[in-house]
Amino acid sequence: MTESVIKFLDLSAQRARLEPGLSARLHTVLDHGAFVLGPEVAALEAALASFCGAAHCIGVSSGTDALQIAMMAEEIGPGDAVFLPAFTYTATAEVPLVLRATPIFVDVDPATFQIDLAHLRSRIQGVLAQGRLRPRAVIGVDLFGQPADWPGLASLAAEYGLFTLDDCAQSFGATLEGNRLGHAADATATSFFPSKPLGAYGDGGALFTESAERAALYRSLRSHGEGETRYDVLRTGMNGRLDTLQAAVLLAKLEAFPAELVRREAIAARYDERLADAVTVPARVANATSAWAIYAILLPNRAMRDQVQAGLRARDIPCAIYYPRPLHRQPAYLPHHDGTPLPVAEDLAERILALPIHPDLTDDQVDRVAHAVRASLT
Ligand SMILES: *Cc1c(COP(=O)(O)O)cnc(C)c1O
Repeated sequence: MTESVIKFLDLSAQRARLEPGLSARLHTVLDHGAFVLGPEVAALEAALASFCGAAHCIGVSSGTDALQIAMMAEEIGPGDAVFLPAFTYTATAEVPLVLRATPIFVDVDPATFQIDLAHLRSRIQGVLAQGRLRPRAVIGVDLFGQPADWPGLASLAAEYGLFTLDDCAQSFGATLEGNRLGHAADATATSFFPSKPLGAYGDGGALFTESAERAALYRSLRSHGEGETRYDVLRTGMNGRLDTLQAAVLLAKLEAFPAELVRREAIAARYDERLADAVTVPARVANATSAWAIYAILLPNRAMRDQVQAGLRARDIPCAIYYPRPLHRQPAYLPHHDGTPLPVAEDLAERILALPIHPDLTDDQVDRVAHAVRASLT
């Protein structure tokens, strides 16, 4: 008997579950022809806002553009310090730099991998003491599917007058204190990149806010800074709209999303059971549930991580390293870093390994992955 192929992400199995409804929605768009800001975009915005309990949702062209629009709306720019974790995807640091603001890299918690609040406070105080930059914003990243410490971030931000931006690209669908993420910060940005928990068939993203004023700015900024009509240009904006075809895909996927989140949680629990005595399994953020974008284990050192990665590859089991290099060590960002040591982010990059987790992974496949990890340790 040949064994099933284990994939890191299985969009074809997901599509098989969602047809024929998914194609029907795409054909509706092909027939009505409103490819830009068609009715599916507004329908999706309403569905996403009600899913996460946010007052306003604005569909945009990607998670990166969602971050950028949120920061443009605050007029963040030269002279502004934007605090963000060093252990995240590149886009989190890229956006402040595109706007000519200065990213200030903050270390992360060694257990949950989320931004370290004690270090954040010392970084804010360092910027104030130096007196060169104005502390303006903190981007809290909900890493790998789990929420950052939003109650802690919100009170620290209030103390220093910072704008809070939730980079929820990996964690839409996660909950904190019983609420879905989407209103933990002044603005929440998410991504519908195909590999995210709620993924489109191309690029897409969304912004959430409780503020009607911010929502109006986001709508204007995503369409070239337009005003009442398309031909009033009130501010410098961008072409940052969510595509109608992607909105149609997402409407179909959103129906299946709650059950997929339950399945991801069951897979994570099964990995825990089979691996917790052999490797460090993901620590859980308190009072939260995860969207399980990534299930990452920690090995004792770099050599063991590389050995397990090679062992999995030899057994045709996919795995990945998020992230092999913390952002302050990236060639593009190194010149913008003040040299502050970020030992946790650097250590995680050496020891972390992500195992497959997607809703179409079977229990048998999870067991095979876990078995391969254990077999690779010796
Ligand atoms: C994926 C991701 C983004 C960017 O989203 P795109 O839709 O690819 O632009 C931003 N931040 C984090 C943490 C991400 O994982």
